[in-house]
Amino acid sequence: MPLFINRDQIFAHQVHLLEHKLRSKEEHILELETENALLHLRLAKCLSKLRHERDEEIHANRKKHQQQRKVQKSTNATLSKLLSEVQMLKRDLKDVFTIYVGFAKELEEQSKQLFECVGTARNAQDLQSDDPQKLRVQVTALEHSLQEEKEKCREERVRRRLLHNTLVELRGNIRVHCRVRPVLHFDHIPGSPTTNGSSLCEAVVQAINDDSVFVNCAKTSSPVTNKIFEFERVHGPEDSQETVFEEVKPLLTSLLDGYNVCIMAYGQTGSGKTHTMIGSQSEELTAAVQVSQQGIIPKAANELFKLISEKPADSHMVEMSVVEVYNNEVLDLLARDEDGATVGVKREVITTSTGTSEVPCLTHELVRSSAEVMQLINSVLKLRSHSPTLVHMDSSRSHFIVTLTVTSRSPDALALARRLQNARQDVQRVSQKEWWSPRCRRAASSRSSSPVSSPSHSPCHSPCPSPRHSPCPSPRPSITQTPLKTKLQLVDLAGSECVGMSGVTGSALWESSCINRSLSALSDVLGALAERRPHVPYRNSKLTHLLQDAIGGDAKLLIMLCVSPTQRFLTESLQSLGFGARARQVQREPPRRKNTALKMNHFLHFNAPRRTALQFKFKMLKAIGQTFFSSGLQHPKFTAQQSKGEDYEVRTYHTTNWVSTAVTGMEQDPALGTGFRRLFKYIQGNNDKKCKVEMTAPVSCLIDPGAGPTCESTFTVSFFIPEEHQADPPKPTDADVFIENRKESTMFVRTYGGFANSESSREELLKLMESLKRDGMKFKEIPYYRSGYDSPFKLTNRRNEVWLIKDEEEKA
Ligand code: ADP
Ligand code: MG
Repeated sequence: MPLFINRDQIFAHQVHLLEHKLRSKEEHILELETENALLHLRLAKCLSKLRHERDEEIHANRKKHQQQRKVQKSTNATLSKLLSEVQMLKRDLKDVFTIYVGFAKELEEQSKQLFECVGTARNAQDLQSDDPQKLRVQVTALEHSLQEEKEKCREERVRRRLLHNTLVELRGNIRVHCRVRPVLHFDHIPGSPTTNGSSLCEAVVQAINDDSVFVNCAKTSSPVTNKIFEFERVHGPEDSQETVFEEVKPLLTSLLDGYNVCIMAYGQTGSGKTHTMIGSQSEELTAAVQVSQQGIIPKAANELFKLISEKPADSHMVEMSVVEVYNNEVLDLLARDEDGATVGVKREVITTSTGTSEVPCLTHELVRSSAEVMQLINSVLKLRSHSPTLVHMDSSRSHFIVTLTVTSRSPDALALARRLQNARQDVQRVSQKEWWSPRCRRAASSRSSSPVSSPSHSPCHSPCPSPRHSPCPSPRPSITQTPLKTKLQLVDLAGSECVGMSGVTGSALWESSCINRSLSALSDVLGALAERRPHVPYRNSKLTHLLQDAIGGDAKLLIMLCVSPTQRFLTESLQSLGFGARARQVQREPPRRKNTALKMNHFLHFNAPRRTALQFKFKMLKAIGQTFFSSGLQHPKFTAQQSKGEDYEVRTYHTTNWVSTAVTGMEQDPALGTGFRRLFKYIQGNNDKKCKVEMTAPVSCLIDPGAGPTCESTFTVSFFIPEEHQADPPKPTDADVFIENRKESTMFVRTYGGFANSESSREELLKLMESLKRDGMKFKEIPYYRSGYDSPFKLTNRRNEVWLIKDEEEKA
């Protein structure tokens, strides 16, 4: 069968094929287009990446460039710095080199000189070795001059010792120093009552200068006026422990010169006695502060060992004893029990046949430094506050006495002991003839009695056996062999407040009364010595018996008055200051000058008509001296008014009674003397009550000049009547003396110094008038006053005044 193919079919088939081909081509195109688009996309991505990378690279390059610039800059700076340093180093090097060259030259020079010296020395040595004989002569000459120097030195030492003792004696064998402590926290009592508008913790006791204490009594309700007390040295609150000790120091030289020395602190509880004597120690304080707070005892021990260290080695030995006088019993605080622990053991005080006081069996400990002294004291102080036998908690309830006994075996000291023996024998011989020196007589009689107590007198063994027990270098037959022995007693007395004030009862009352009795016994002893009474009551209390050698004889006693400054303790402070003033009177006695005394004795025996007058004058001068010097005197009260000028004061004197006498005459000074004598008789007892009236200041003289050049003037001399007699003054028995009631009046006052007389007072009055006229003040030209505050014996710091009466009528 034939095959017939339809062309249409073929064509259709071809079309179909072609269409198929076209479709596939179109698909391919689409694919290609898609691929193209994708490629475009990738290209765009690549391009943006490339762009980003390029940007980053540019940024990094920029940063790098900046850093490079920075590094370059700092490198440049460092380089320039280094350059300048190099230049400086170069310069330094140059300098060093110059110095080195200089040194080298100098060294060369010096070594040259040294060589020359060595050469000279060698030549000299050669020469000397040539002549040993010459050398020997030189050595002998040197030894000789050394011996001479030693001799001179020894003589100088003796001279110094004599001068030192004279100086200390001039200052007084009994000296009184006063220390006013600062106002402390315990003085402030919250809500404390006030008197006359002033607080009880206000300071009313003040050190106004180196030797005066001012007590402001005006703020109390008592009629007592302000007082001034004078002592050898007055310390204020600002004075350090060192300053206080500086004034005490010379006494230690006296101790090594052969004198017994006693330093005692007196004052009420809390006034600073223990602070002054021992010091205020506290664990919290640094070592330096602790040292600065040390009191007299550690400082004195330090000074003593320092002085001893300057002496030949082993020539001095120091032994220490510590006792407490409690309830009139002497307790040995260094005594030990079987276990070696310290316990207070009761001891007795005895008077030896040589007239000195001694405590048999008292424990003495050898001490080699101030540290050892303080170690013992501290152990004992602990014992005091803890011992069940001692009931008191407050250390001030007993008298605490530390004694350092110095034994000297140096040839100097032995020679001194010999000289002291001779001196004492001289005094003994002289004193037997002296009518007025009972103390010497007493000493002489006691010395001429039996010889020294032998060791067997001592009832038990003591580390310091007799005769070494004997407390002072008193003369003994075998003095050449006996070492020189002196005592330094350091005493912290019990509080001096009275029983009435403390308001205690029972055992505390007994304790206080024992303290009061022992302190008044001390006062009595000082009083007896001051008045040179034949009997000095040392044995009235254990305290005075124990301290007998330190208070009497040629021992040096320093009383350190401790005073609280506040008004609350005014009564106690006045009591302490009064005690000090009385103690000072002991030293005021003139030193025993045998020739003067014998002359006086002779004169009084053979010149009877003048005896009474002289005795009166002597008594008067002595009393004036004592009152003016020893204690603060009462002054008339006044109110100070404002003054227009600086060269005068304005005072309104209150209405008061005075004792006066009028003398008429042409001359002021003799009239003043006459008036003074009349008034002095009055205060000595020439009055209806036959009582002594305390001296006051000032002595005023009202001068009422006569009318013409040759007319007599009237001089009214007056003493202010002390407060205790103001209400009812004793009536004068002398008709020329009268009681004058001075009404309140205002005075213009000019003060001046020196020894006043009619001329000087006239000059001062004229100056005062000039000042008053300058300031337009109204005053009466006559009568006017002249006043004096000082004894004729006071040489310095004298105070005189002239007064002009204010013209009150003019003012009205
Ligand atoms: P007393 O022994 O007289 O009873 P204290 O010596 O114990 O008195 O003194 C009482 C207190 O006052 C102590 O705390 C002491 O430290 C202090 N005190 C005393 N005197 C002074 C002074 N001058 N300066 C500073 N403090 C003082
Ligand atoms: Mg005390």
